[in-house]
Amino acid sequence: MIFIAGSQPRITKYQLNHTKLCPNCHNYSKWILEKNKQYISLFFIPVIPVQTKYRHYCLICGYTEVLDELTFNKELDDAKPLNT
Ligand SMILES: [Zn+2]
Repeated sequence: MIFIAGSQPRITKYQLNHTKLCPNCHNYSKWILEKNKQYISLFFIPVIPVQTKYRHYCLICGYTEVLDELTFNKELDDAKPLNT
């Protein structure tokens, strides 16, 4: 029997409802929050979650900051899901 296994990301994006100052481009914009959950997949179906990464980034210049889960959830309180 042949198994096709690998890993695949599942990315969820949210947009902040308030503006935030970017330390790179010095503009205020509604930053994007991103949750990147990595799964082990079997036959291209995500089965086991292995790692989750959190980050947010500036919409204007793309400056990115990595977040921990606690900070991410705190920022998520004032954000809405983004359909991509
Ligand atoms: Zn920026």
